[in-house]
Amino acid sequence: MVALSGVNKHFGALHVLQDINLNIARGEVVVVIGPSGSGKSTLCRTINRLETIDSGTITIDGKPLPQEGRELARLRADVGMVFQSFNLFAHKTVLENVMLGQLKVRKVDKKAAEEKARTLLDRVGVGKQADKYPAQMSGGQQQRVAIARALAMDPKAILFDEPTSALDPEMINEVLDVMQQLARDGMTMVVVTHEMGFARSAANRVVFMADGRIVEEAKPEEFFNNPRSERAKDFLSKIL
Ligand code: ADP
Ligand code: MG
Repeated sequence: MVALSGVNKHFGALHVLQDINLNIARGEVVVVIGPSGSGKSTLCRTINRLETIDSGTITIDGKPLPQEGRELARLRADVGMVFQSFNLFAHKTVLENVMLGQLKVRKVDKKAAEEKARTLLDRVGVGKQADKYPAQMSGGQQQRVAIARALAMDPKAILFDEPTSALDPEMINEVLDVMQQLARDGMTMVVVTHEMGFARSAANRVVFMADGRIVEEAKPEEFFNNPRSERAKDFLSKIL
C-alpha cells in the first residue's frame, strides 16, 4: 500500500535517506528503530510529504504522492501523522480538534463530524474531556486526542513518530494501549519508537535504520533475539 523505491534525501551535504526501499502492506505494523539522527523522522515525514525527496519514488496504493493543493491535504488525511509533541491546536477544544479536519478536508457536515469525534474520543478514553482545551489535559490524554484526530479522517495508514517520547513514564502505557488496539483492529501503521515491548508485541516487522540506511529488517522475535548486523547488535546492547 505504501511503497518507497530508491528514495534519497539530502539536507545540504548531509545524505539523510540513502536508497531507501520499503513496502508496507495493508494492515501491517512496521516499527522503525535506530539511533538518534539515523533518519527515522525524515522517513516518516517524506511519506506524507512534509519533506520532499531528491530522487526515487513514493506511492500510496500505486499512486505517486501529490505535490500540492487539495490533493496534498487529502494525502495528509489519508496518511495521518502523530508527533512526539502532540501538535494539537491550543486555541481549540478537544472536540474541535477532532472535528476540524473532517469539516475542512473531508467536507463532512457538522453534526456528523461531532458525532464521530465524540465516538472516537470515547474510544481513546477521553470522551469526558471533550470540551477542555489541550493545555488542561495531561500529555497522555493529549496524545490520545491526537490519535483520535488522525482516526477521524478515516486514514489508510497512520505514521507515529516517537509518540510516547515526550510523556511521563506513567502515561506511556495508556497511549501504547490505544496503539496496540489499533494494530489489532488492522490499521496500517508505521511507528518510530524506543518502546521495545510494543515492538515485540505489536510489530509485524522491525526496520532498523542507521546513518540514513535501512540496515536490517526482520520479524520482531528474529530481530531482537538474533540481530545480524553489528550496528543493530551495538544499538540493542545499549538500549535493552
Ligand atoms: P531521527 O529521527 O532518526 O533522529 P532525523 O530524521 O530527525 O533522525 O534526522 C536525520 C538527520 O537529518 C540528522 O542528522 C538531523 O540533524 C538532520 N536533519 C533533520 N531535519 C533537518 C532539517 N530540516 N534541516 C537540516 N538537517 C536536518
Ligand atoms: Mg526523530
